[in-house]
Amino acid sequence: MSKHVTHWIDGAPWSGVADRRGDLHDPATGQGTGVVDYASVREVDDAVAAAVAAFPQWRATSLARRVQLLFNFRELLSARRDELAALIVSEHGKVHSDALGEVARGLEVVEFACGIPHLVKGGFVESASTGVEVYELQQPLGPVAIISPFNFPAMVPMWFFPIALATGNTVVVKPSEKDPSAANWLAALWKEAGLPDGVFNVVHGDKVAVDRLLEHPDVKAVSFVGSTPIARYVYENGTRYGKRVQALGGAKNHMVVLPDADLDLAADAAVSAGFGAAGERCMAVSVLVAVDPVGDELVQKIADRMAKLRVGPGCAPTSEMGPLVTAAHRDKVTSYLDAGLKSGASLVVDGREHAIDSAEQTGVDTSGGYWLGPTLFDHVTSEMEIYTDEIFGPVLSVVRAKSYDQAIELINANPYGNGTAIFTNDGGAAARFRNEVEVGMVGINVPIPVPVAYFSFGGWKSSLFGDSHAYGPQGVHFYTRTKAVTQRWLDPSHGGINLGFPQNV
Ligand code: NAD
Repeated sequence: MSKHVTHWIDGAPWSGVADRRGDLHDPATGQGTGVVDYASVREVDDAVAAAVAAFPQWRATSLARRVQLLFNFRELLSARRDELAALIVSEHGKVHSDALGEVARGLEVVEFACGIPHLVKGGFVESASTGVEVYELQQPLGPVAIISPFNFPAMVPMWFFPIALATGNTVVVKPSEKDPSAANWLAALWKEAGLPDGVFNVVHGDKVAVDRLLEHPDVKAVSFVGSTPIARYVYENGTRYGKRVQALGGAKNHMVVLPDADLDLAADAAVSAGFGAAGERCMAVSVLVAVDPVGDELVQKIADRMAKLRVGPGCAPTSEMGPLVTAAHRDKVTSYLDAGLKSGASLVVDGREHAIDSAEQTGVDTSGGYWLGPTLFDHVTSEMEIYTDEIFGPVLSVVRAKSYDQAIELINANPYGNGTAIFTNDGGAAARFRNEVEVGMVGINVPIPVPVAYFSFGGWKSSLFGDSHAYGPQGVHFYTRTKAVTQRWLDPSHGGINLGFPQNV
């Protein structure tokens, strides 16, 4: 049955007829599965108007009630996570266990937001001056926009909206047009949890919707996640219109393997972090820096493991890696195999030759799917396109480094700074790396160092524009503004006019 995904405005699906629509596909089969409406300025304005109308009552809703709703949402989502995961698999293509992982990491942020009363408790001092008390309030901003990428259609919106809502803001989410259904599913779940209409809205579409959200005077803040050029654009334009903006961009994550590392552990980690979700993760490892003399042995161990990976439809329990999200993206990623060869890198494992599990094995006809198997290049150098570009697919590049110093120099010269990892048994080397590396999230013998929900997620350099990371304490900071109140309750014996600047005595 063909589906029709439309906007969710003021607690209900939009009932209008869209001027423009996009097609939806199952990446594992290439079959069309339905359409998604693209918002015009008018629909974005309607969604923002709903968020504006809902704001006064929502910000006045007690913390106790907000927390209750978050708990309701958490319970419903926890019980129905499989359903959401299956929806993600059908539009994104990642394997079911990976989709479940995405939902679990989003749930962590919901759980963090359940502790919101503790997080927004301000400071208070009595006797700041004689008889004067000072305290701080953390107040919501108003309607905020969340614009998300295709690769985590549930988790990335959940990095933001639990905290935005918990702190009393209302929300308009603009998901990726490639896999839009998860956002609507979450919106319907909020309604079931008891959230008042208009507090959580979804608009679908492309640049038209994004541009309107950026310029709309009633949108007070924008949380964006996507590729670096668009993140920069969103940051520059959003701030130009006076909004608070955090814009998380692309990545090229390096994993360094020092000579003393356990090479089996490192090879397992490189394969997991390089090819999980077919490399379509902003924290995927895309460059492995092998410090002499481990290169040959490590490349062999990785290639051996890659040969055994089961590539097939995300819905089949046997699949470890699924397809790429669209035919166009698969073609673009595949074009890097030729580019790498042309620039002189050694193609150790060619993903075009990897077997895709058959219909007999999985029950799914994958002949029209967007497939590319795991690919490994060796002897990659920093001027090659396969090194400089974010490929965002199952392509791992090995760069040989003569020393630790050469490895860190390479990473610090890279324009991205999202995640990185070092594999070593030397605590001193790891401590040096942790201090010297110019990257926002660092793993020590951990290949995908996504921080837990009570820390904050964010890269450095071209991987993040703005000064607030996502979720955790920085998320609370981003979605609130501080008001400092200085008060005195007058003692009838105290008073008189004084034109001098207030001094604390
Ligand atoms: P994308 O930049 O193409 O799209 C992201 C969002 O921007 C989508 O909602 C899309 O509709 C919108 N958009 C696209 N083109 C636009 C334009 N010209 N003007 C205005 N809006 C536009 O990214 P994607 O392909 O969906 O996602 C993959 C990218 O996201 C990768 O670069 C990846 O590294 C990055 N990412 C980063 C993080 C992080 O935390 N830093 C997390 C996940 C994904």
